[in-house]
Amino acid sequence: MYCIGGYSEVGKNMTAIEVNNEIVIFDMGYNMEKVVELNEEMDNLSLPEIIISGAIPDDAIIQKQKKKVKAIVINHGHLDHCGAVSFLAHNYNCPIIAPPYACDIIRKMNKDSKKPIKNKIIELSAGKSIKISEKLELEFVHITHSIPDTVLSVLNTTEGKVVYANDFKLDEEPTLGKKPDYKRFKELGTENIKLYIPDTTRILQKNFSPSEKEAQIKLKHNFAKIYPDNSLVVTTTFASHIARLNNIIKVNNNQRKIVFLGRSLKGYATLAEKRGLINLGNIEVATRRKDLSEILKRVSRDRGNYLIVCTGHQGEQNAVLSRLAREELPFSFKREDHVVFSSEIIPSPINVSNRYILERKLSEQGVRVYRNVHASGHAHKEDHRKLLKMLNPENVVPAHGGIDHLGAYAELAIEEGYTIEKNVHISQNGRILNF
Ligand SMILES: [Zn+2]
Repeated sequence: MYCIGGYSEVGKNMTAIEVNNEIVIFDMGYNMEKVVELNEEMDNLSLPEIIISGAIPDDAIIQKQKKKVKAIVINHGHLDHCGAVSFLAHNYNCPIIAPPYACDIIRKMNKDSKKPIKNKIIELSAGKSIKISEKLELEFVHITHSIPDTVLSVLNTTEGKVVYANDFKLDEEPTLGKKPDYKRFKELGTENIKLYIPDTTRILQKNFSPSEKEAQIKLKHNFAKIYPDNSLVVTTTFASHIARLNNIIKVNNNQRKIVFLGRSLKGYATLAEKRGLINLGNIEVATRRKDLSEILKRVSRDRGNYLIVCTGHQGEQNAVLSRLAREELPFSFKREDHVVFSSEIIPSPINVSNRYILERKLSEQGVRVYRNVHASGHAHKEDHRKLLKMLNPENVVPAHGGIDHLGAYAELAIEEGYTIEKNVHISQNGRILNF
């Protein structure tokens, strides 16, 4: 097992598994914090410079083995798992296998890229398997997360199974799609899992992760209290969180006209609509300055009748919400307008400072700000325990975290009878582990 990225930080996930001289890569992701930091500069950097910046994984440890790579597997469409595909996949003469919505995202990224990759993109749905080579077979199993079409990958090898579960949550009441495939997880627990690689992003949170249903209820309570004010309501969330966008539409219940503003919101929502995952119906969607201006003028005249859904939940400086707050568009907030953050701050210094600047600007204008009307898309500690016990793997290598996250997972595994450095391993980027 080659630990390439995501073993020394949250983000830039990339892992390679070698069995019998054949390699399968799982994920090629961005380190979102570095990508935000570099911003447009990234277009002017060479590939080695981008790798050195830390924005994408450094795949040097498998460079000499690249002819052995048979497939690149992506579990879901979040950019910290697939963002670096457009930079690294061309190095490997193999297909990319991903669930349908993640394939859509990869294809769109490729369309927008200056150097499109030529790897074949293969759609594989949850519940289905594909033969990668004579001795390797890949199965996708349905699991819940904060983006549609998330799977847990099972690689069948002659040495046993490798389960890659990066990212997931165990949602008992998902509002879009089915509950996790517990039946299959329990079966897998009896099928000799040699190695298990779970995401640890929210392992430091105790108890179980709240359901998306709870986010829907929080939104409902907030909207019920602020709608009668007859002032403008603006909400922002992760653009790829299609379940959340559906919940915003549902909770609005046709009381106000909804407008979606921002490029990434348009991108993800339009792809989702083509898959029947969201109905944009009579929602206006705008990205170009001219269209934004026209809509915002209408909103300003009739603010009590509109719900703006826009990009910018992390306070990103170029996103619509920050531009509204800085009055860069023909629009001014008024006292008593409401901004609902249906998100949490991804805790990196740049996000924290961007959000601080944004919230200060909003408060100066008398806007009421509501934080964290949200439920995380990641497993908490007890969800991890539940899945670990169900899968019953021989070895565990936690991923998608720094030493504190990986260490917390190891502690949990020790509570469940595992032994550190024997069958639960705290790795780091650039390390090779043998089983
Ligand atoms: Zn994710």
